[in-house]
Amino acid sequence: MTRQTAENRSEAGEVEESAFDVPADSEPIVCPYCSMPLSTERQRSLHIGLDHYHESTDREQEAFREAYAEEEKELSRFRIVALGGLVALYFGFLLVYALLAV
Ligand SMILES: [Zn+2]
Repeated sequence: MTRQTAENRSEAGEVEESAFDVPADSEPIVCPYCSMPLSTERQRSLHIGLDHYHESTDREQEAFREAYAEEEKELSRFRIVALGGLVALYFGFLLVYALLAV
């Protein structure tokens, strides 16, 4: 989902529904502050923490911190796996070059 721009918000901070392509048969989780449709509770927690942190409740802020820490762990794991893939690709090409370039 792309992040909405300021043009998609009304003066009250509500997000216009036309800014999102929500399938008719789905029931999105909606942000209680700006009515932005989100697909999971985790995305809702992250959205509230990033866009409405100061107006959110303590419980929502705690949910944001947990979701943020969880996402941070996944990002760290992804970075390690991506780096490993790049190193393997580099040495793979180096090996192919060493074998075929003689
Ligand atoms: Zn919102």
